[in-house]
Amino acid sequence: MTIEVQTPTENPRVHLPGDPNPSKDILGGKGYGLAVMHQLKLPVPAFFTIGTDVCRKYLENPEQGLPEELQTEVLNALRTIEESAKKKFGDPNNPLLVSVRSGAKDSMPGMMDTVLNLGLNDDTVKEIAKKMGDRFALDTYRRFIQLYGSVVLNIDKEQFSKRFDEIKKENGISEDSGLGLAELTQVVVDFKTIVNDSTGVPFPQDANVQLEEAIKAVFNSWDSERAIRYRKENKIDNNLGTAVNIQEMKFGNIDEGSGTGVLFTRNPNTGENELYGNFLQNAQGEDVVAGIRNTLSIEDLKSLMPDIYEQLKGFAELLEAHFGDPQDIEFTIQNGELFLLQTRSAKRSAKAAVRIAHSYVEEMRITREQAISRLTPQHINQLFHPMFDPEEMEKAKNEGRLLTTGTAGSPGAATGIAVFDSKTAEMLAAQGIDVILIRDFTEAEDVSGMYASKGILTARGGPSSHAAVVARGHGTPAVIGASDIEFDENMGVIRINGKEIKQGDKISIDGSTGEVFLGDFKLILPDKISNIHGLTDILSWADKIARLKVWTNADTPSDSRRARDFGAIGVGLDRSEHMFFDDARLKVFRDLILTPREDNRYQSLLEEIKEIQRSDFEGILKEMDGFPVVIRLLDPPLHEFLPNQIDLIAEIAKLKEQRRNKQGRFASLSEEERVERDSKVKQAQELLDAVVQLAETNPMLGLRGARLGISRPEIYDIQIRAVLEAASKLKKEGSNPKPKIMIPLITGARELEVFKKRFETISKETGANVECKFGSMIEVPSAASASEISKIVGLVDFISFGTNDLTQLILGLSRDDAARKITPEYIEMGLFDEDPFVTLHPDVKNAIQIAVEAARAVKPDIEIGICGEHGADPASIKFFNDVGFDYISLSPYSVPSSRLATAQAVLAL
Ligand code: PEP
Ligand code: MG
Repeated sequence: MTIEVQTPTENPRVHLPGDPNPSKDILGGKGYGLAVMHQLKLPVPAFFTIGTDVCRKYLENPEQGLPEELQTEVLNALRTIEESAKKKFGDPNNPLLVSVRSGAKDSMPGMMDTVLNLGLNDDTVKEIAKKMGDRFALDTYRRFIQLYGSVVLNIDKEQFSKRFDEIKKENGISEDSGLGLAELTQVVVDFKTIVNDSTGVPFPQDANVQLEEAIKAVFNSWDSERAIRYRKENKIDNNLGTAVNIQEMKFGNIDEGSGTGVLFTRNPNTGENELYGNFLQNAQGEDVVAGIRNTLSIEDLKSLMPDIYEQLKGFAELLEAHFGDPQDIEFTIQNGELFLLQTRSAKRSAKAAVRIAHSYVEEMRITREQAISRLTPQHINQLFHPMFDPEEMEKAKNEGRLLTTGTAGSPGAATGIAVFDSKTAEMLAAQGIDVILIRDFTEAEDVSGMYASKGILTARGGPSSHAAVVARGHGTPAVIGASDIEFDENMGVIRINGKEIKQGDKISIDGSTGEVFLGDFKLILPDKISNIHGLTDILSWADKIARLKVWTNADTPSDSRRARDFGAIGVGLDRSEHMFFDDARLKVFRDLILTPREDNRYQSLLEEIKEIQRSDFEGILKEMDGFPVVIRLLDPPLHEFLPNQIDLIAEIAKLKEQRRNKQGRFASLSEEERVERDSKVKQAQELLDAVVQLAETNPMLGLRGARLGISRPEIYDIQIRAVLEAASKLKKEGSNPKPKIMIPLITGARELEVFKKRFETISKETGANVECKFGSMIEVPSAASASEISKIVGLVDFISFGTNDLTQLILGLSRDDAARKITPEYIEMGLFDEDPFVTLHPDVKNAIQIAVEAARAVKPDIEIGICGEHGADPASIKFFNDVGFDYISLSPYSVPSSRLATAQAVLAL
């Protein structure tokens, strides 16, 4: 048992156990866990902790070394360990060995350094040999020299393992356990030579020097490259520093009555209420982690050491109850005596997090509200998107397979072969091959290829660009705006940060993090709500708490069905132009845009479009029977729907060059071939002329949305008719359709009046027997102004904020391009806190708040929604909740996580 000694100074740098209110900020996670276990009178080897504040101070000026006062305090504190252990640090007759472990406030597993068996030298090793056996002593000494050499003296680990393997080979030994005393002595001698050769001085024999240097090394490891990378990824403050825990060594590798292991108080993969973990007999902690030997399960411990198992079980229950959260506990057994070395909140899979939160409610440990607050929308999101095995991903990073990081465009992970054009992607996918479509950017022609691909990677585009919106709606993982990609399509290769990737090479993307990897990965596949233990209950509790309703952005009946299954109770945005993504339909749509109204084909194209739309609207209204469906009239930014000018020019040039005859030889074309070729050239030329005619310098600010409706009212007219006819038909069949029509890109009330009149006229003309609500998007700043919106609400039943365009227009920042060049730099320099196309920018929030207040002042019960991509962002959801929106609308796959986020928004108030 450890002894209670209070720290002598008022402002301690070194913390002894016994403080009634230990602080995790100062002690770090490991030190805090040890302090609590000590308080609970659990068997913890004697220890003390140097606070994180000391690390922060030290790192300001590492060249100055450790402050003298600290060294004195450390030596005083060591005395308490010595008294408890009845051994003396550095004493050749009765040596105490200690571990020196890092431990920051937030767990950073494996990112910082630790030194074990410290205090061993040429003299103390002899005494250890007398007490615990020669083999044990030599083996421990060689481990210590290796660890100290690599961690403290910065010698490449490989040098030690290489020499170790050589000695084994020279002596024909395959297993470590086969090394005899002579070989181990040789290892120790050679390891000391490596140290001498690498540092120019012998391996330090003074235990106090070892300790001082090890403390510094642990502090320095806070700033190691891998620790910095981990903090960046996990958004951990760089200035916190690590604590250092110094603890009496206990040995799990003395005999078969010893061992070491890790215990989870609940299964961290499934969340089941069972002890889970592994251990090794006659081993030290690193053997369990390194995976050199096959570990046994905790169940095996039950039969091998039943008393220890029972004791551990009791401690596990006590610790879980004390912390109110499942724990991950490290233990060591020395000669049949159990010691606990660490306890911390157990990391768990998303599935386990849900099950544990649910079980905690059933076990009456926490309330339903607490269960909801303990989960994160990211947890839920992970469940509905494929992800990579985290271990494989970490390994890939260490192997240098991370090629680049772009914007996380659409969540989920995908692995497949690299393909650089949409047609090939479609063709290969049809053969059952998994492809990752890599494009500079995407447009309407790419959509069938995008749908066929497992994942999408683009060099350009932001979170609300075409690629991201389409991918998200379809649930296809996407990384976009990865600006390190260089295209050399003629050569059939691309380059990413100097690495060449050919069409057909294996590549993997993680649309949840934006990472792009070379090679393939094992995928963990998504699940159904009902398959995840506890999730149906948790989401229904969330629905009861939430104030915002969760609707979905869906353009097809199947998307609508999926969203209903996930719990969406309405469609807040059906982008009607997205119904023309498939090749045959795209052609009709393009023809309509390109055909002059005077042309007699125009009317029949309109009819064709109307028929297509009527059946689509019918499908969606049917899937959403009894729930509102907002159909937005056409808003095609023309550049997304027209053929690319450069492609057309190239096609014409190629046709003109065509001189091969049917046998593939160069020859003049036959008359028949020439006629065919000329007709193709003529068609392509006409298309090009029309495209040039319609081309705009700023298509996002051009003939789209309401402006298209003004210049071609007949297009909007047929769409309104298609909605009303579809709904009437369903009504007659006994369904309960609830259509709503919405006009995009409205700049003000005068413009909206035109559409309102058309809507009323057509409603009368069709004599529809269903109620259809009329609404406007608010996505242009002029429409969001207090004066204009108060007039707009007089004309509509509802308004829906299009925060993608609103952000683009308020900040004057291209939604398609900003993520590539501007946003990362702005975030880096602190000019943006976040990507404004992911989380609402303060200026956009401000404009929305003013608009909502002005709208409600005129019409208090006006229905207000949001259908931009910010609808799925938890921080923005909190804002929509707080300013009094009625609903949010987001992609089907984000529905479950957003149901949680809407409840959390209320609970956080
Ligand atoms: C928006 O602008 O926020 C919106 C929903 O419309 P779209 O993304 O289709 O322009
Ligand atoms: Mg818009």
